[in-house]
Amino acid sequence: MQWQTHEISNQVADLQDYNIFTSDTVLMTSLAQYQADWYQNTLKTSGQELGSSAVLEAAALSNTHLPELHTHDRQGKRIDRVDFHPSWHQLLGMLRKQGLHASPWSQPRLGAHVARAAGYFMQSQVESGSLCPSTMTFASIPVLKNEVFLFAELKDKLYSLEHDPRDLPIAQKKSILIGMGMTEKQGGSDVRTNTTTAVALGAEGRGQAYALTGHKWFFSAPMCDAHLVLAKTETGLSCFFVPRWCPDGSKNAILVQRLKDKLGNKSNSSSEVEFHNAYGVMIGNEGRGIPTIIEMANLTRLDCVIGSAGLMRQALVQAIHHARHRTAFGKKLVDQPLMRNVLADLALESEAATRLMLHLAAAIDAPDDNLQRAWKRIMTPAAKFWICKRALEFTGECMEVWGGNGYVETGPMARLYREAPVNSIWEGSGNVMCLDVLRAMDRDPEGLQLLLQFWNSSTSEQVRQMVQELKKDLALTEFREKNARRITQKLVLTAQAFLMSEYAEKDVAIAFTHSRMDAECGRVYGSLGSEISNTLLDHIISRAFTE
Ligand SMILES: Cc1cc2nc3c(=O)[nH]c(=O)nc-3n(C[C@H](O)[C@H](O)[C@H](O)COP(=O)(O)OP(=O)(O)OC[C@H]3O[C@@H](n4cnc5c(N)ncnc54)[C@H](O)[C@@H]3O)c2cc1C
Repeated sequence: MQWQTHEISNQVADLQDYNIFTSDTVLMTSLAQYQADWYQNTLKTSGQELGSSAVLEAAALSNTHLPELHTHDRQGKRIDRVDFHPSWHQLLGMLRKQGLHASPWSQPRLGAHVARAAGYFMQSQVESGSLCPSTMTFASIPVLKNEVFLFAELKDKLYSLEHDPRDLPIAQKKSILIGMGMTEKQGGSDVRTNTTTAVALGAEGRGQAYALTGHKWFFSAPMCDAHLVLAKTETGLSCFFVPRWCPDGSKNAILVQRLKDKLGNKSNSSSEVEFHNAYGVMIGNEGRGIPTIIEMANLTRLDCVIGSAGLMRQALVQAIHHARHRTAFGKKLVDQPLMRNVLADLALESEAATRLMLHLAAAIDAPDDNLQRAWKRIMTPAAKFWICKRALEFTGECMEVWGGNGYVETGPMARLYREAPVNSIWEGSGNVMCLDVLRAMDRDPEGLQLLLQFWNSSTSEQVRQMVQELKKDLALTEFREKNARRITQKLVLTAQAFLMSEYAEKDVAIAFTHSRMDAECGRVYGSLGSEISNTLLDHIISRAFTE
């Protein structure tokens, strides 16, 4: 080219056409530990597809061609329809085909939740917005199963492996998606302040039809075929199945007022809606709306953990890839001692997040085991608090590994960074999660004791020491609420140190535990002490991502 002014050099090629599964040693080797290795071949195939340039392109497209709301048709009739770029439907189709919206319910077997978590973790590394309706559908199934007649109508469409994007009444669809509507303008964490009302159209109570009037301030994925919605009857807050179309084939009176202009999670439409005598069927008992929908929220919280662990994993992989190929001051970045400290510390954090999310998924597979129930009930909100929050700093640090190239929208790092905060906010924000941890411990003191005993059985002296420190904090009855974050942080670090000590390579586990106990360490990534040798730093980085 005549106008060429310089040679382009030292710019790192995109990471594409790699296998997301086989490049992840921790994920691959953990499956057998949870009796989920039967899923390995599926994950291998999916890992190749997800890491392909075509799918990465679809993920980027769905975040640049954003959902568009059309409230009315040409003649002025309400349609309240959101249109998406075809890439959105491609991604939903992939999630569906793999059964990530339902498989542990439709095909229960040992390790089913871990297998699904592994698949979901991989998908979350590529695109996050499309996870939202898949998660809500997944989490709604155990709630809907309790409604025998309704579930009989919905079951095949919920379990279907085919994505059906058509905007039609449920009866005419091959498959359906379900959302949830709780948050109103005056309160999201405190849903007791909900003002939406429900009036019986005939007989009252569970399974009966109601007319809902009011609003929801956040109502994600309004194109879902139905939402589980909280509304008040005279008895109190109750839960309703509110379909997009009424049984008579007319459009339900759910008016989508506008789409939220969000920081991240751009591909997913989140809306504000009003209900104008909208049709809904009561599910669960009247006045028991919160306990009914909480069953769903506990599962969505686990998906926040998995999703954030996936974001961290992808940010790490991108950071290591960049550092391996970018040179500064005469050396590859990955060979600079300080950068090695940063990358290794990030790799330890990501590994601990991955191990904890797999362990929590395994706990759902064993509902009759008291210890596993305590992992699920006490440690899910704790992990939701910690891992979702760690993802914020983590993605920022990985972005910085890319230097200026990390900060621009032409690469993947900006999207990962913008995506990070949402998991920490929705489905119960940080403080609310920590208060939930206190509540769960109070309700199940025996479960807490089982967890402490289990962790105290660790072969690692450091872990046993962490348990003793944790016990001291748990014994303090004064200022408990004020200290909820401190207690939750310790709970998670102890659990992660335990899992690392039991399942990770010994030196790697020691590096994690030492650094997380060291008061000097942990305020920023890259503060691992000199007791962690250069050889170990190299080893941690190279096993973290095998290109
Ligand atoms: C992109 C996006 C999509 C969403 N989609 C949906 C959806 O589909 N359906 C739905 O129902 N909701 C949805 N939400 C709403 C979300 O669940 C709420 O925003 C969230 O639960 C917090 O509620 P709030 O916004 O009313 O904040 P508030 O309840 O006002 O809380 C504000 C802050 O105060 C803290 N806080 C609250 N209570 C206490 C306390 N007792 N002690 C200490 N701190 C406290 C919280 O942790 C939070 O940090 C969505 C939110 C976002 C961002």
